[in-house]
Amino acid sequence: MIDDLSTLSTLSPMLQALCADGMRSHMAVPLLPLGELIGTLNLAAQDPGSFQPEDIDIACEIAAQLAVAIRGAQLYEAEQHARRFADTLHAANESLTRTLDLNSVLEALLDHLGQLVPYDSANVMLLTADACLAVHTTRGYERWTDPAKIRTISFDLSATPNLQTVLVTRKSLLIPDTTEYPGWRHVAEAEHVRNWLGVPLLANDQVIGIYSLDQTQIGFFTEEHVWLAEALAAQAAIAIQNARLHAQVQRHAAELELRVAQRTAQLETANKELEAFSYSVSHDLRAPLRAVSGFAEIIARRHRANLNEEGRHYIDNIVEASARMSQLIDDLLAYSRLGRQSVRRQPVPLQDLLAQIAKDLAARVAESGADLAIPNDLPIVLGDPTLLNQIFANLLGNALTYRRPDVPPRVAISCQTEPGHVVVCVSDNGIGISAEYYAKIFNVFQRLHSEDEYPGTGIGLAIVRKSAELLGGRVWVESVVGEGSTFQVQLPKE
Ligand code: ADP
Repeated sequence: MIDDLSTLSTLSPMLQALCADGMRSHMAVPLLPLGELIGTLNLAAQDPGSFQPEDIDIACEIAAQLAVAIRGAQLYEAEQHARRFADTLHAANESLTRTLDLNSVLEALLDHLGQLVPYDSANVMLLTADACLAVHTTRGYERWTDPAKIRTISFDLSATPNLQTVLVTRKSLLIPDTTEYPGWRHVAEAEHVRNWLGVPLLANDQVIGIYSLDQTQIGFFTEEHVWLAEALAAQAAIAIQNARLHAQVQRHAAELELRVAQRTAQLETANKELEAFSYSVSHDLRAPLRAVSGFAEIIARRHRANLNEEGRHYIDNIVEASARMSQLIDDLLAYSRLGRQSVRRQPVPLQDLLAQIAKDLAARVAESGADLAIPNDLPIVLGDPTLLNQIFANLLGNALTYRRPDVPPRVAISCQTEPGHVVVCVSDNGIGISAEYYAKIFNVFQRLHSEDEYPGTGIGLAIVRKSAELLGGRVWVESVVGEGSTFQVQLPKE
């Protein structure tokens, strides 16, 4: 407290001003919220000795309340400020993670950056495989407006020490005044840049790029700007990596798809060639085989008496082998014909189809004492009658063939209707199949028994599978060795 300013020899500029205004008494009370000096409350009066000790008490009381109020307002302002930044960072994070397209990520990055750190121009550069920084996205450069041209710009790091420093230190670099930065590279497009901030984009601790922010005003960027730019850089680097990975996965998927398509086409061609080959070979073998078996049968029948026992044995073997070969050729022709014919799709009542097959098998059923039960509620399926006949004639024939010795075959047919398709089951009480052969038995020539044990060519189930697939269905088996098997055929419903 000063009773009379005019009695003092030296005065601070503020007191000099008060004195000049005719003030004589002066009192200054510190503003100390929580003990920290943030300013003073100054009171002045025209008369010397105007302030009394009780005035000091009142001023101190007011100063204490004022200090708390000022501190509260400052904190509120700081909180609002921080909240605005947090909201912007949050919004940036959302828009950066919403897209997997690299261009959109980089555009969003520069948009959000502008809300946090006011810049006159900015650009994002990404590190290339040959260790250059290639410009990807820009803002605010008058001469860099064509995106296609921008992508062709890249910086050689040895000629740009500021970029190299960011890359090597992996830390942001703030250049308050570019005219004073040694080695600053003058680029015509960036002549306006006086204040420069370079921030590394770090993914897994590796620099994947840099973004630079420019100001025409020297010393514009503050430490807070650096901090905010770094916070956004961390989010952006993750989004950039995700976008790159996504692009990589898509590239791989497309490559894979192309390779699968090429391979499928090759396989289809090879398959067609193979089918054509086996068809023509089987077809051409028929005529000479017919001659062999025809003459063998004539010898066996007409000249049997002229042969000794050994000769009769040999001729019987020739007749039997040529019959087996004829069956094999018929089956091969049936199999290769499958791939050559067009598939009809018409409603086929399974009831009638299976009844006809059972009729065809009547002699074998009677001879083996089999029980073949065809239910009378079988559905109508969508398919080709010839293919359907191939499927069920083979399955029922096998069910009678692969019987246990001395156990009369029991063959049951059942059907389940499911959305869009039906599953027809053919079950037997025969010898069964070990699980390791469930898939293999559907391959051509895959037999589990010798010709002596059970006759066959090993083509029947391959015909079944191919026919089912041509009809848009599939076939599989479940079995218990020594108890029986159930073949299940899935077919489209009418
Ligand atoms: P094939 O009957 O002419 O040998 P398939 O392709 O019809 O040829 O059958 C392949 C093999 O699958 C048969 O050799 C047999 O070992 C086995 N198999 C097929 N059906 C049955 C069945 N119902 N029970 C047991 N084994 C079977």
